[in-house]
Amino acid sequence: MVKVVRRPEVKGLRKFYLIEILGGLIVTMKHVIRNLFKPEKLPTVMYPEQTKPIPAATRGRHRLMKRENGSPRCTACMLCATNCPAFCIHIKAAETDDPYIEKYPERFDIDLLRCVFCGLCVEACPLDAIRMDMPLVTFAGYTRQDFVLTKEILLDHDNSDYPHAPGYNPPKPLDITHGPHYVKFLEKVKTQKQ
Ligand code: SF4
Ligand code: SF4
Repeated sequence: MVKVVRRPEVKGLRKFYLIEILGGLIVTMKHVIRNLFKPEKLPTVMYPEQTKPIPAATRGRHRLMKRENGSPRCTACMLCATNCPAFCIHIKAAETDDPYIEKYPERFDIDLLRCVFCGLCVEACPLDAIRMDMPLVTFAGYTRQDFVLTKEILLDHDNSDYPHAPGYNPPKPLDITHGPHYVKFLEKVKTQKQ
């Protein structure tokens, strides 16, 4: 069954839409006067000079964490690349000279154009070697290559640069991050070095 909805009949002055036009002008003038005399109440921000605060759980641009000697904490275990649903992490592993660290990432690329910012790589990493806690959420570039984060870009920061930055960095207690076997291994390495 079809329900017919009839248009309301327009009568008198409303036929000329004068009341509606005047009403619209009054609303516009109200906004103009308020914005002129109270610019601090404008609902917009002067981007890019001003930005809005980023919520604490925002997944921003990735970074690779570093050891005290500046080398990447990553051991090229491939867990992040394996868990990445967008297949956008490309790692080339190489052997290290350090007898206690088997591998390191010779290449570590993340293609931001494929990334869906799910944070699974951060959660998959057993060493807390990759984080998305930089408050960098706006990316721009001229070529596709501009959106590929290389190892050098991912390591271009100080670990202490973003200690309390809003951003995705799920808490990982030591026993979950490293696991009891890894903690035992670290203790063994420490004793051997002394
Ligand atoms: S955030 Fe998600 S899609 Fe992006 S690199 Fe990590 S796992 Fe892959
Ligand atoms: S999961 Fe962590 S340690 Fe393993 S390759 Fe990825 S960043 Fe490196």
